[in-house]
Amino acid sequence: MTHHEAFEHHDHPAPTETSKTCRLCSTPYSPENNPSFLGICNTCGYKILIVLLIIMISTSYIAWFGVL
Ligand SMILES: [Zn+2]
Repeated sequence: MTHHEAFEHHDHPAPTETSKTCRLCSTPYSPENNPSFLGICNTCGYKILIVLLIIMISTSYIAWFGVL
């Protein structure tokens, strides 16, 4: 149970602290260039935005057909 003590010291900065990895595509990205609120890279952020737009449009169509 002594292997955890080596990670407690901050002599060598871990690469995971400076660069984050995307949750979706697991690609390391710099949070300074694209400060994401979900822990994802910029590309996946745009993908989620497009998917959200499609979901909103489809739900609006379903709501319209439900009303009519
Ligand atoms: Zn990503």
